[in-house]
Amino acid sequence: MNLYDYNTVKRILSKHGFTFSKALGQNFLINPDVCPQMADSLCADGDTGVLEVGPGIGVLTKELCSVAGKVVSVELDKRLFPVLDETLAEFDNLEIINADVMKIDLKQLIEEKFSGCTSVKVCANLPYYITSPVIMTLLESRLPIDEIVVMVQKEAGERLCAEVGSRLAGAVTVAVNYYADSEILFDVNRDSFMPSPKVDSVVIRLKIRKEQIFSVKDEKKLFTVVKCAFSQRRKTALNSISNTMGISKDRLTAVFDELGLDLTLRAEKLTMNDFICIADRL
Ligand code: SAM
Repeated sequence: MNLYDYNTVKRILSKHGFTFSKALGQNFLINPDVCPQMADSLCADGDTGVLEVGPGIGVLTKELCSVAGKVVSVELDKRLFPVLDETLAEFDNLEIINADVMKIDLKQLIEEKFSGCTSVKVCANLPYYITSPVIMTLLESRLPIDEIVVMVQKEAGERLCAEVGSRLAGAVTVAVNYYADSEILFDVNRDSFMPSPKVDSVVIRLKIRKEQIFSVKDEKKLFTVVKCAFSQRRKTALNSISNTMGISKDRLTAVFDELGLDLTLRAEKLTMNDFICIADRL
């Protein structure tokens, strides 16, 4: 069955009475080049486990099943299950779970489902409305995963993979950099989807570091400082942190002076080391 063929997809979906849900970010891939490229970029083998978020009708899932030892897909929309029964019937290394990826215990899921795998990776065409929360959950929960290869909206991907201290950086950039090495793998045009969204996408790779390279006294405080610094992007980092964390300007000025930081810097100009030094002193 050719799941990249517009008419085939239309026929299967109408056979099962399926209609797209915008709220669930349901834009299904129909460009035949994208999924094989995503699956190949994992460099998976028979010992690799892959966790997929949102299989849709199974285009990417199919490719993942062909390259990995085991695939577990988490899909929230129950209506897709009869479709997936039909499109993925040939694969016996696949388990599809009906759950909300934001609510399920991913640590337990990975331990239970991938116990025989030497490496676990996450691969998905993420629903746009939960891109950052899903990525942050995957990183912050310190799951036993090696890398994340996901498709996200172009703008989100550029921010996720930006350098800390650059114009495109945001709070999420700092968080990603703290845990992983990031890169944009390739662009995906909006016409690659059914229905076609209003924006283009990119596929990104986040390679999770085994060893922590940053040393910080209190991670929670670091991320509070980062969030507060970026919360008022037009203001200086000092004013933004002071306003949102409720720390006096005098105290923050003393910290910035001690670190030799320009008081007029905006958050996007601060480096990871600057954020860590500020957090450590507060
Ligand atoms: N992988 C398919 C593809 O590339 O064509 C579908 C991708 S579509 C962008 C996103 C998928 O995620 C949909 O199947 C949608 O139902 C599912 N989804 C949305 N929210 C979800 C959630 N909270 N948990 C799990 N799956 C979700």
